[in-house]
Amino acid sequence: MDLKNLIREVPDFPTKGIGFKDITTLLKDHQALRYTSSRIVEQFRDKKITKVLGIESRGFILGGVLAFELNAGFVPVRKKGKLPAEKIAQTYHLEYGTDAIEIHRDALSPDDVVLIHDDLLATGGTTNAVLNLVKKVGVSSIYLSFICDLGFIQNPSKQSLQAYNPHILVTY
Ligand code: AMP
Repeated sequence: MDLKNLIREVPDFPTKGIGFKDITTLLKDHQALRYTSSRIVEQFRDKKITKVLGIESRGFILGGVLAFELNAGFVPVRKKGKLPAEKIAQTYHLEYGTDAIEIHRDALSPDDVVLIHDDLLATGGTTNAVLNLVKKVGVSSIYLSFICDLGFIQNPSKQSLQAYNPHILVTY
């Protein structure tokens, strides 16, 4: 199945010059949704994943499916100020200014095998922030999964993610 054809490209969204990869056109197609999640599940079925971390907000959609299919728990990684209980935070740099993501302090434990999932990898800034968050807790091992990678964006911190051998279905 050609997933690239199923992902809509919206020019100049949310700002001029950004080519937005809109996965809603893939998600609404029941065969594509099943195919996409099956491909990722296949890759991680034997990894004994205990927790899937979905990154807000598009990482929540398949993240929940993956957790269910891998018989793992689901942990939401949320933007600052959304989680109700005691949490740990990690700030990261955006093009202009900084942002922060959070997980609940009791969301992970040292024996967890973690799969971090998001819809898309661009600069790698968000994923590196999640990695830092997870490392603050300390877990047994970490895997990475994305539907898409903007391969034309390269930088040293994105390069460092190669150590985790990220699983990617569509490269631009
Ligand atoms: P980054 O931190 O630069 O790797 O950006 C990844 C995050 O931003 C992901 O959560 C994506 O959903 C979102 N994102 C960045 N660029 C795009 C894009 N061109 N199309 C869709 N989502 C994007």
